[in-house]
Amino acid sequence: CGICGVVGHRPATPIVFEGLRRLEYRGYDSAGIATVEHGKLSRCRAAGKLDNLKHALEKTPLSGTTGIGHTRWATHGAPTTQNAHPHHAGQVTIVHNGIIENFAALKQRLETKGRSFETETDSEAVAHLLDDYIQQGLSPKDAAFATIKQLQGAYAIAMIFEGHDNLLIGARHGAPLAVGYGEGEMFLGSDSLALAPLSNQISYLEDGDWCVLTRDHVEIFDAHGDVVHRPIQTTSLTT
Ligand code: GLU
Repeated sequence: CGICGVVGHRPATPIVFEGLRRLEYRGYDSAGIATVEHGKLSRCRAAGKLDNLKHALEKTPLSGTTGIGHTRWATHGAPTTQNAHPHHAGQVTIVHNGIIENFAALKQRLETKGRSFETETDSEAVAHLLDDYIQQGLSPKDAAFATIKQLQGAYAIAMIFEGHDNLLIGARHGAPLAVGYGEGEMFLGSDSLALAPLSNQISYLEDGDWCVLTRDHVEIFDAHGDVVHRPIQTTSLTT
């Protein structure tokens, strides 16, 4: 299972798809990609191999220069297209690796607020929680921080937002996530292998870290919301 994301200036889908290919070795049962273009979120998902996602993308091309992708190793909910990531709620789309231990309590709380869930996954609770904070008027950055403070369990998460083409937010706790630095584009990936064709300048997030990426800027915060500097390592992986 793995995550890849980009906020940049080139078509995002081929970049993210290639990242997912490089994460195939980790194992997966379904996959999906989402982009934001002219403020509008779109996604495409498929059960099974990445070739199935490729065929689905031929029918439903995703344009946009900011996107996130996911290979899923199902823990909650069958490995169907419906349960595949990215998950969408209102004005947000997210991908998640790991397990949200308190998803049932979060889901119940959000359902009493009138939200309806369309998957059996633990991860969908993250999308609804994040969107709930957006609906309350929080900025994407504040909503992301408020959301991860509510999560128990293991996660690497990438999030994109309606109306925000130049924004990609990531978070990790107990599951790997790295930032890749580019020229006018920034990347998220589960490991340096996923990022190898994109960047050899990589910061590994530490547990509790979350990051706000735009085309030209990376900000990393710790679990308290304080800005932190994680070393930028030069990797020597070849593509
Ligand atoms: N727990 C999530 C799910 O079952 C994410 C699994 C993963 O790490 O791919 O959808």
